[in-house]
Amino acid sequence: MHEQSSFGRPEPGATKHRRWAILGLAAFVALAANGAEVEPKVVDPGPVGGPPADAIVLFDGKDLSKWKNLKGDEAQWVVADGVVTVNGTGNILTKEEFGDVQLHVEWAAPAEVKGDGQGRGNSGVYLQGRYEIQVLDSYQNKTYFNGQASAFYGHNAPLVNASRKPGEWQVYDIIFHPPKPSEDGKSVVPGSFTVLHNGVLVQDHIPVAGDATTSAQFSGAAAKGPLMLQDHGNPVRFRNIWIRRL
Ligand code: MG
Repeated sequence: MHEQSSFGRPEPGATKHRRWAILGLAAFVALAANGAEVEPKVVDPGPVGGPPADAIVLFDGKDLSKWKNLKGDEAQWVVADGVVTVNGTGNILTKEEFGDVQLHVEWAAPAEVKGDGQGRGNSGVYLQGRYEIQVLDSYQNKTYFNGQASAFYGHNAPLVNASRKPGEWQVYDIIFHPPKPSEDGKSVVPGSFTVLHNGVLVQDHIPVAGDATTSAQFSGAAAKGPLMLQDHGNPVRFRNIWIRRL
């Protein structure tokens, strides 16, 4: 009885296997299509230096409405002539929080050279408020290598020193992936920094560990965090700041 009824029909186990095989094939086809056949979205890149159409403009020269101070009140840095200048009122940070991003920042150290080493034109761009790409007047100004301009501060020196003279505008283009919890949640998978300084590659996909924070205000790996600019007591200027979520 039993033998007869099962003859010519697939076993329940075989049905299961076939279903998985079909699902696997469908997933493979979907992945292949994604790599080869889905048309990339059109993005208007805007003028040279951006912002591209799909960027979030964080500072367009007019106001600091996208920013706050460390107490959560209005950011107090001075905005004039399309530029924002550090003025001793403390770090400022974005109201929005970000994870994986592409970031564009233009900055200039004071034209009048004062101080030396870490005391000359010091500021900083902190991804997630945690990981600092150093802003410093590193034009003929010696300091420790992982603390000079475009260093991942305290961790990794830039590949080259691509600094312009004090007072001249400089550009950082940064691609940042934050450290993330592993699938089992038991460890942290390192993120990465890629940085161009004035169009020159200075950080080449270097790892960012979860505990690599160099900020007094934030610590530990997190999915998202604000972008923070440092007030180190020097009147560093910024303009044209935009960010794209990746
Ligand atoms: Mg700094």
